[in-house]
Amino acid sequence: MRRRDILGATTAGAAAALLASREALGQERLARAQRGMPIPKIADVSVIECSPDGVRLTVVKVTTDQPGLHGFGCATFTQRADLVKPAVEKYLKPFLIGKPADRIEDTWQAMYNSSYWRNGPVLNNAISGVDEALWDIKGRMANMPVYELLGGKAREAVDTYGHASGSEIEDCLNSARKYISQGLRHVRIQVGVPGMEGYGSRRGGQRIPALHDGPVFEREAALKRAISLFEAARKELGPDIELLHDAHERYTPTQAVELCKQAEKFRLFFLEDPLSPEDIMWFPNIRRQTSTPIAMGELFNSPHEWTPLIKDRLIDYMRMHLSQMGGLTPARKVAAFGEIFNVRTAWHGPGDVSPVGHMAMVHLDLSITNFGIQEYSEFNDAAREIFPGLPEIRNGYLYANDRPGWGIEVDEKAAAQYPFHRDNPLNGGWGEIRLPDGQIVKQ
Ligand code: MG
Repeated sequence: MRRRDILGATTAGAAAALLASREALGQERLARAQRGMPIPKIADVSVIECSPDGVRLTVVKVTTDQPGLHGFGCATFTQRADLVKPAVEKYLKPFLIGKPADRIEDTWQAMYNSSYWRNGPVLNNAISGVDEALWDIKGRMANMPVYELLGGKAREAVDTYGHASGSEIEDCLNSARKYISQGLRHVRIQVGVPGMEGYGSRRGGQRIPALHDGPVFEREAALKRAISLFEAARKELGPDIELLHDAHERYTPTQAVELCKQAEKFRLFFLEDPLSPEDIMWFPNIRRQTSTPIAMGELFNSPHEWTPLIKDRLIDYMRMHLSQMGGLTPARKVAAFGEIFNVRTAWHGPGDVSPVGHMAMVHLDLSITNFGIQEYSEFNDAAREIFPGLPEIRNGYLYANDRPGWGIEVDEKAAAQYPFHRDNPLNGGWGEIRLPDGQIVKQ
């Protein structure tokens, strides 16, 4: 009896709260109407595809029923781009037409749950395209940049790092020197291994012996080469430059510990992806044995992957790819979650994030306290033609403009001049890399 009373009271309380929230919502709408600002509704959802620099970029455009009010979001999953388009057009578009364009959280939850099975990269990218477009629309409605909606600037600009690489160590150091001369303080260094398919650089020398004809990778040689690179970089580039390195999940869990331990004396800014997402339970081993800072997360799609690493303070930098997470809405929540545990951000930002996606990261970076560093890839003239409003970069810092929303537009006619290349038999997907004996290794 008593339990029923409590439940009854709770239900009555919930109903009253619901009525109050509906009333508040009604008042807000009334206030908007009185200001001559009707609630915009989603009138169309379309997909813009282009490849200005050989990388397939996908952007979603949400158009409202109010003339001139639209927004853009990044849905770039370059390796499976042809699957994202129908996910948007065949499922999200009919689901969203006629819905209010001003309810971002509600719309995100509806999209996320409507497939029942969730947290996959194709659907997350489709959701991200709509989510970021709704944030863009919200900013345009408010006549404010999105970073203002997120609380305003916590910094003036966003610090970035350069991608230095070379087939030989000296080539990589020369590449790093170029960035340093441009004023950058952080450089990611990657070097090829003679005869081998490394990551982030071209290979040099004769192909090493293998039992197959494809690209070949050998873990022990790569590990030794990475340590030689760190040693040379610290010696040649001096003590003040911040060095970053991406292991790209290619080592065994024990080799990952070894690499992080040996790297310790070279004081890296971070060592990225020493383990694959499948091996995240090994992170405590690294943490217990070395002070090398760890960055992880660009391959994550699900809260089940990043939550344990952040809450147990097993990583220093979260590297998630915003569109793979589902857009700005989940990213800002994870950033706030990380702030509590003093885990900083280093969102994944190479050339396979569209300029719209880069703007979303810049606006988030500007507004959070636990910002760490931002990866950025300089876009070419074709990208600047398609995406007017791309951020300026000065002395390694990215600056957002003060235009409403993301501050970026998409010239759809220009985008159509740079279609996806259809002569690639892998259709934008990546190929295979194998150990000398023929076993597949992670990319
Ligand atoms: Mg990486």
